[in-house]
Amino acid sequence: MIRATSFQGKSVAVFGLGASGTATVRALLEGGASVAAWDDNEAGRTAAQQVGVPLVDLMTANWSRFAALVLAPGVPLTHPEAHWTVTKARAARVEIIGDVELFARERALSDPPAPFIAVTGTNGKSTTTALIAHILRFAGHDVQMGGNIGRAILTLEPPASDRFHVIEMSSFQIDLTPTLKPTIGVHLNVTPDHLDRHGTIENYAAIKERLVQGADIACIGIDDDLSLEILKRKTASGIACAFSSERGLAPGYSMIDGWLVCSNREGLAVKLATLNGISTLRGKHNAQNALAAVAAVRECLHQLGMSADIDWQSALNSFPGLPHRMEEIARLGQILFINDSKATNADSTEKALLSFPQDVYWIVGGKAKDGGIDVLQPYFPGIAKAYLIGESSDAFAATLDAKVPYMRCGTLQSAVEAATRDAQASTAQQPVVLLSPACASYDQFKNFEVRGDAFRALVAALPGIALRSRA
Ligand code: ADP
Repeated sequence: MIRATSFQGKSVAVFGLGASGTATVRALLEGGASVAAWDDNEAGRTAAQQVGVPLVDLMTANWSRFAALVLAPGVPLTHPEAHWTVTKARAARVEIIGDVELFARERALSDPPAPFIAVTGTNGKSTTTALIAHILRFAGHDVQMGGNIGRAILTLEPPASDRFHVIEMSSFQIDLTPTLKPTIGVHLNVTPDHLDRHGTIENYAAIKERLVQGADIACIGIDDDLSLEILKRKTASGIACAFSSERGLAPGYSMIDGWLVCSNREGLAVKLATLNGISTLRGKHNAQNALAAVAAVRECLHQLGMSADIDWQSALNSFPGLPHRMEEIARLGQILFINDSKATNADSTEKALLSFPQDVYWIVGGKAKDGGIDVLQPYFPGIAKAYLIGESSDAFAATLDAKVPYMRCGTLQSAVEAATRDAQASTAQQPVVLLSPACASYDQFKNFEVRGDAFRALVAALPGIALRSRA
C-alpha cells in the first residue's frame, strides 16, 4: 500500500467509506495524519469502524481544524448539487481532493519521475487501461494498475522509477486531483455523458482536458471535434501525439487497412501490428483503444529513455480482454456466444452490432434508458431474431415490430435456451448469440457483472459447449 505522507501531523476529513475511502484512511494514518472519517450510510460506517477507521460526525465537527477533505469520487462536488461536506469544507476554506491527488503528492515527494500513465475518456477507459498494463507487463515491466478499474490507487505499491502506475480516471476523479501531472495523459474521446454531474458538455470536456494539460506528454484521440480542440490546445502549450481510428495521421498513430501504423511528420510510417483476427479487440472502438494503448506505451518508454522495441503483434494477440465487454465466452459448433453485459445503453450495444453485423441472435432488455433501442434500427437487418428480457420488453417489442422477429422471454434463462435452439437450427456460417442488453440490469440483477456472470453460467451448462477460460 501507499503511505500518504503529505498530510503528516495534520488532520484530514475523509467522506465516503467504500473500498477507496477505507484505503484512503489507512494511507493517511500510515503517513502520520490524524483522520476524521464519515459516511452518510450507517452500515458503511459500521463496516469501516470494524476495520479500524476512526469515525467523527462531520456534520457537527469543527471544520477549521481540517487541512483537507478527501472525497470519494461518487460524491457530488458540484452537480446536481454540492454534497453537504463540500459546502462545509468550502465555508471553512478547506481544500477538497480525492485519493489520486494523495497519490500524485506522494509521487511528487518521493519519486517525481516515476512512470505514471493516466487514462480518461467517455468510453473505452477500462479496456485501454488494461491493455496498456498488459503490453507493459508483456515487455517485462513492473506494473501497478488501478484507480477507476480494479484496485483503489492507494492500495497499490508505491511509485518507483522502475515501476509503471497505469491509472484509469473518471472525470469525477480528475475533478478531485488538482496537481495531476502524469508522465503520459491518455485522452480517448468525449461524448455527452454524466452531464447530470458536470452540467454542460463544455464543462465535462474541460475537466477531461485537465488530465492531458498536466501531462508531460499527452496522447489524444481525435475522432470527435471536442477532442480535436483539446489536441490543438495541448500542442500549443506542450507535447502531444494524436491517434485516430478514422483517418491517417502524420505525425500520429492511425489504423490503415487493419494495421496500426505510426507515422512521423515527414509521413514515414511504421506498421506496428494488425488487429485482424484478434477476438478481444474486435470493432472500430477497440481500434481506438488499441491505438491509444500502443501510443501511450511507446511514448512513455521513449520519454523515459527505455527501449520500446516490443513485439507489438504478440503483445496485442495475447491481450485477454475484459469480462463483460464483447467477451467471447464459448463456442458450440459454429455458434459464438458473446457476453456484452457492460452494454447498459444503446450506444454501447451499437458497438457490438457493428462488430457482429449479421446472423445475430440478440438477447436484449432490462431497465431501459431514454430513447430505448430506437437508434439501433440501422443494424436491425443483421439480427436474425431478438429475445426480450426484463422490464423494457413492451417498449422494445414496439420498436422491433414488423422489422425484426422477436420473442418475449422474460428471463435470461429462457432467452439463452431459445436463442441457442434457433442458432443451432440456422444454416449461417457463424451464428452469434449475443447478450448486449442496451439497458441497465437492476430490474433483474444487482449489476452488469452479475448479469454477465449469470449468462456465462447458463451458457456453460449447455450440452457440448466449449467454454473459454477467463484470464
Ligand atoms: P469505460 O471504462 O470508459 O466505461 P470500457 O472499456 O469498460 O469503457 O468499455 C465499455 C463499453 O464502451 C464497451 O462495451 C463498448 O461498448 C464501449 N466502448 C469501449 N471502447 C470504446 C471507444 N473507444 N469508443 C466508444 N465506445 C467504446
